[in-house]
Amino acid sequence: MADAPVNSSLTPQPGHLYVVATPIGNLADLTERARAILGSVDLVACEDTRTTGSMLTRFGLHRDLVAYHDHNEIETAERLADQLAAGKSIAVVSDAGTPAISDPGFRLVRACRRRSLPVVPVPGACAVTAVLSASGLPTNGFLFAGFLVAKTSARVAFLEKYRDFEFTLALYESCHRIDKFADEIVEKLGPDRVVCIAREVTKLHETFLIGRAAEVRDRLLKGSLKGEFVVLIAPVDFVL
Ligand code: SAM
Repeated sequence: MADAPVNSSLTPQPGHLYVVATPIGNLADLTERARAILGSVDLVACEDTRTTGSMLTRFGLHRDLVAYHDHNEIETAERLADQLAAGKSIAVVSDAGTPAISDPGFRLVRACRRRSLPVVPVPGACAVTAVLSASGLPTNGFLFAGFLVAKTSARVAFLEKYRDFEFTLALYESCHRIDKFADEIVEKLGPDRVVCIAREVTKLHETFLIGRAAEVRDRLLKGSLKGEFVVLIAPVDFVL
């Protein structure tokens, strides 16, 4: 592939926010650009300073870290935007994957956009796109709904609303509810609906269960229910 002109160098620019994806399990998935930016920004805003601190240490990087998570997002976003406006370069990361995708990041990016401060994506791992790309389910269009709420009635209402959906549905689900969710899919969308349940992607126990909802549910229950899961539900008329 010929070298394409790039929109930013490997050196952070003053006053720029970098939205940096980090691995979702396999440390080799940190990109060269992410590593360069994380190694030289003035400040790294992260969900958990211990998690990000130890990841950076694995790469021989040492930066000032500031906690930016669900519980302090609103006030911290404005404070970080002030620091950007004063000329600091900042990278935002989450514990794993792409910030702002079912993770903190959105409020900081919005605060920057509102002030016309430059925001630069440094793309990389993201669980939903990794699973979609390797699933064999239709990917021309998809709806990513993040985590469904825990309340059963809301989850059932969601499945009923999208029963006849023409695109693939993509969701994150916790290990505490994955068995229940697999049951709900069979019950509300029928045993023949094609699904993909992917577990521990890029890690040692990476597993893709793909097929009819009832079969996938049974295989899921026979395996380990520990770890991290992505669920895909194929369009209503899709056959494998
Ligand atoms: N921002 C992250 C991303 O880009 O994918 C997602 C963060 S969200 C808090 C965490 C959820 O993502 C997990 O509960 C799981 O549903 C999904 N996830 C993250 N890593 C995963 C992996 N290695 N395998 C499967 N699912 C994963």
